[in-house]
Amino acid sequence: MEELKKKARELLEAKTVTMVIGYEEGTAGIARPAFIMDPSKAEKLIFDKRCNHNLALYLSKKEVKRAGKIAIVAPMPVMKSVIVLASENQVTENNLVVLGISADEKLVEFENFSAVEKYITEHPESYRAKDKELLDRIDKMNPQERWEFWQKELSKCIKCYACRGACPMCYCGTCTVDCNQPQWISVPSHEIGNLEWHLMRAMHLAGRCINCGQCADSCPLDLPVNILTLKISEDVLKNFNYKAGTSLQQDYVMSTYNPNDKENFIG
Ligand code: SF4
Ligand code: SF4
Repeated sequence: MEELKKKARELLEAKTVTMVIGYEEGTAGIARPAFIMDPSKAEKLIFDKRCNHNLALYLSKKEVKRAGKIAIVAPMPVMKSVIVLASENQVTENNLVVLGISADEKLVEFENFSAVEKYITEHPESYRAKDKELLDRIDKMNPQERWEFWQKELSKCIKCYACRGACPMCYCGTCTVDCNQPQWISVPSHEIGNLEWHLMRAMHLAGRCINCGQCADSCPLDLPVNILTLKISEDVLKNFNYKAGTSLQQDYVMSTYNPNDKENFIG
């Protein structure tokens, strides 16, 4: 992708940014995240179908924040994550340049975050095929079957927290599951503790999950935990008309109250 390499090199040479976060060739044919600070290394940047890590994950890391103004290579899930993080005051357009990548793998340049927001609303995306298939299957289950499905899946969880580590929206310095005084959620992997962990995670991501699928893709046991947050996203859209990653102005849906909110869950 020559236009991306050229743009990254220009930004670094002009010292507009100190770092470009993108993708480079890894080992065994895998693409991996790249952190380019030397303009001559911009040549290493790639973009193709293998580049599916959600790089927005790194934007809240202190090492990246310390680097000053940076640029990030942003296919659609990264663009949406940037909008969520901006709405939560985690990134600003003063410290971040978004190098958008279109669905046909072309560089899209943006003047500001509002332009990213506009691009996202003009290019709606559909679900990944495997997510759609499982979502449809779960939708057809009755409540008892769904309960059994999730109990069975989540009972396998070994609490490695790779799902949390892969999610750009899980950026708290200390996660509730790491807190032991008081200990809200038990550490060992067992049925009840696993359920608590996953319900807490899903609720913390309600209205914030942009459906990148990285949590499930990073799970060593292939647990479809993204479907929990995806399902809640559908409910948030239906009940509060809010879709994560589409608005810079939206307040966090779980901590705002509107007198016109539906109350059909009460009673
Ligand atoms: S799909 Fe998973 S990793 Fe991606 S934003 Fe949602 S919860 Fe986070
Ligand atoms: S990555 Fe998988 S096994 Fe690890 S905590 Fe998440 S769901 Fe559990």
